Amino acid sequence: MCKLLSIHRTKWASFILLLCFSGFTSAQLVKNIEEFNQAVKQVQPGDTIVMANGVWRDVELVLKAQGQQDKPIKLTAETAGKVIISGQSNLSFSGQYIIVEGLVFKDGYTPTGEVIAFRTSLDDLANHSRLSNVVIDNFSHPERQLSDLWVAVYGKHNRIDHNTFINKRNRGVTFAVRMNSEASRKNYHVIEYNYFGPRQVLGANGGETLRIGTSHFSREYANTLVQYNYFDRTNGEHEIISNKSSGNTFNGNVFYETQGTLTMRHGHYTKVENNYFLGNRKPNTGGIRIINEHQTVNNNYLYGLTGHRFRGALVIMNGVPNSPPNRYDPVIESEMNNNVVIDSDYIQLGAGADEERSAPPTSSKMHNNIIMGKYNQNPFTLFDDMSGISFNGNIINEDANNPLKSGFNKVPYSVHTNRHGLKVPDQALLDKINFGKVKLPVSKAQTGASYYPKKDSQIAFASGQKIKVKAGVDTLVDALKHSQPGDVLVLENGGEYLLTRFANIHHPITIKAQAGKKPIIRSEKPSFIVIENGGALELENLWFEGRESPDYKGNSVIRTSRYSMNINYSLSVRNVKVTDLDVNGYFYFFKAHAGTFADSIKIVDSEMRNITGAILELNKETDDLGVYSVENLTLSGNTFADIKEEVATVYRGGFDESTFGPMVTVTNNRLINVGTGKTHRTGASMYFHGVQKLHISDTEWTDSAPLELYLTNGEPITVIEDITLKGTPKIRANKPDFKTKNIVYQ
Ligand code: CA
Repeated sequence: MCKLLSIHRTKWASFILLLCFSGFTSAQLVKNIEEFNQAVKQVQPGDTIVMANGVWRDVELVLKAQGQQDKPIKLTAETAGKVIISGQSNLSFSGQYIIVEGLVFKDGYTPTGEVIAFRTSLDDLANHSRLSNVVIDNFSHPERQLSDLWVAVYGKHNRIDHNTFINKRNRGVTFAVRMNSEASRKNYHVIEYNYFGPRQVLGANGGETLRIGTSHFSREYANTLVQYNYFDRTNGEHEIISNKSSGNTFNGNVFYETQGTLTMRHGHYTKVENNYFLGNRKPNTGGIRIINEHQTVNNNYLYGLTGHRFRGALVIMNGVPNSPPNRYDPVIESEMNNNVVIDSDYIQLGAGADEERSAPPTSSKMHNNIIMGKYNQNPFTLFDDMSGISFNGNIINEDANNPLKSGFNKVPYSVHTNRHGLKVPDQALLDKINFGKVKLPVSKAQTGASYYPKKDSQIAFASGQKIKVKAGVDTLVDALKHSQPGDVLVLENGGEYLLTRFANIHHPITIKAQAGKKPIIRSEKPSFIVIENGGALELENLWFEGRESPDYKGNSVIRTSRYSMNINYSLSVRNVKVTDLDVNGYFYFFKAHAGTFADSIKIVDSEMRNITGAILELNKETDDLGVYSVENLTLSGNTFADIKEEVATVYRGGFDESTFGPMVTVTNNRLINVGTGKTHRTGASMYFHGVQKLHISDTEWTDSAPLELYLTNGEPITVIEDITLKGTPKIRANKPDFKTKNIVYQ
C-alpha cells in the first residue's frame, strides 16, 4: 500500500502517485533525525526516504535496509544539493540494493573515522548499492593530523558515480576501498564519473586521494574498476592513487595538474589503460609507477610531467627479494607499452634501488612507446641493470641522450596541438603504435555531482578592494576586522602604527604602502600579527620595529595560530625592514606552530637587523614522522645582520618517503653576524634538516655561524654554489651527499 506522510507539495504528490501506480511503494519526506529513524524502521523494498531541504546538523544517519534488484531502496534529497549535512555528522548504510543520492556534506566533520561508510557494523556491509550525485566539500576535521576517510566502501558490487569530493584538508585517504574481510574482496565495485577536486598538500603521509586495499591484504583480489574519473589537482601527497590489491583496472581517467602518481604500491594484475595525465609543466606532477607482478600500463597519454624520482612520468621500481607484504615485490612480467609521453622530464627504471630494494625488474616489456621531450634531454635514468626489460619499437626524439642501446627509433622532435587542445606527435607516429584518437576520455563537466560548481576555493592576494588605513593606534586592527578576503590595506607612507591588540588574519590579505617612505609598525602584544586558520598574508614596503613590545622572552612579529590549522597558508614578505627586535631574548620575526602548514613562505628584498631570536622558525614538528611546516621556502635579495639565532631553521624528521617538500631556495642574500648568540641552541646561521630540495646560491656570510645541513633519506637534492664565507666556519653536515661549486673562503 501507499503511505503518504508529511507530503504537501504537489510535485511530490504527483511523483508519489507515479510510484504508487508503478509498484505499491512509497516516498516519505522526513524532516529530522527522529523521522528519518522512524522511516528506516519501516522501509520496504522500492521505498524512497526523502530528506527535507535544509541544514541537517549533528546527525549520524544509519540506514539498514534490504532492497531488491528491481525494487531498490532510495535515500535522497527533496532537491538534489539542497540537503546540507553539517556539524558532526556522517552516514552509514548496509544491506543491499540501496541508492543514496543528492546529499551535500559540508561545514563539519565526522565524529568517527568515516564520513560515508558502506557498512553499519563490522559484519553488516552494503552490497549492490550505489552512491551517486553526492558532494563532500571540506568536511575536514580541524586537527590536520587527525586521520579519517571520506568514503569507505565495503561489501561487493557497489557503484560510486558522479560524486564530487573536494578540499579534504586533514589527514586520511579521501576515498578508500576496504578489504578487511572476505565479504569485501573480489568486490567488482565500479568507481566512475566522480570529480576528485583540489586537495591541498598535506605535508605528511596519508594524503592519498584513492586507495584500494591495504598492505595487509595486498595479495588479495579486489577486482575494482576505476574509470572516467577526473582528478583535479589532488595534491595531498605523492600517491594520488595507491593501488594495494590485485586485479584492479584504471581506465580512461584524467589527472589534471596532479602532484604525484598512480602507484601500483601492492598487488598484481593491475591494468592501467587509456588514462590521461596533464601535468602542464607544473611542479611535482607525475604519471604511473609500477611495482609488483603482471602489471599492464598501456595506451596512456602523459603530457608536461615534471616530477622526478618516484614521481616520474613512467617509473618502474626495483623490488625487495622475498619481500614482506608491506615492502616492495619485484616487478615481474609487467608491460609498459604504447604510451605517449610528451614534454615530460623523467622516466625512471629500477627506481628506489638500494641495499634492500636490490631486485631489478624481470621478464618485462617496454614496447612501442613514443617519448618526445624538449625540456630534459636525459629522460631515462637507470638505477640498476635493466636487462630484465625488453625494449622494442619505441620512438624517441633524436636530441635525447638514451642510455638504452637498442629498441628505440630516433625521430626529430615534432609536437603540435591537435583539435582537442592536446599536444601530440605526428599522426604517422601515433598510427605506427596504433594509439587511436588523442582526446580526453572524459571531460571535467561530465564528472561529479550535476548541481555542484567546480570553482576554486582559494582567493588570490590583491583580488579584492584597496582600503586606505590611517596612521594611529589600532587603525590597522580595525581595518583587518572589516576587511574581506583578497583586500589590500594601504598604509600611509611614513605613518606610525601602534597595535595594542593582536592583528588577526582570518583570510588572504595584503598589507602594504606605496613606493616611498615605509610606514612603521609597533606592537604592545607579544606578537604583532597572528595568522589564523584560513588566513594568508602578503606584506610590502613596511617597517616593523620592536621598541614597544613587552619585556618578555619569545615575542614574534608574525606567528601562526597555536592551534591546528587545517587550511594551508602562505606568507610573502617583500621590501620590508625589521629592526630592533631586542627588548628581550628569543624575539622572532616568524614562528610556525605545530599543526600548521605553509604552501609557501617568501622573504624577498628585505632588510632585518638586530634581532635576538631567529627570522624564520619552522621546526616545531618534532615527532620525526615526516611531518613538516613549509612546502616552498624562498629567501632572495635580503640582508640579515646581527641576528642571534638562525635566518631559517627548517625541520622535517623521520624517513617517510611520501612527500615532496620541504623545498628551499636561498639566493642573493647577505648574512652579517648571524647565529652567534651565546644562548643559541643549534649554533648555526641556517639549519636545514630533512629538506628534500635545497638550492643555495650567490650568498655571502660575514662573521657568522656556519650553515648546517642534516640530510635524510629520499635522495634529497642539495646544491650549494657561488657562496662566500668571510670569517665564517665551513658548512657543517651529517654526511657529504651534497653538491658544492665555487665556495670562496675569505
Ligand atoms: Ca602514502
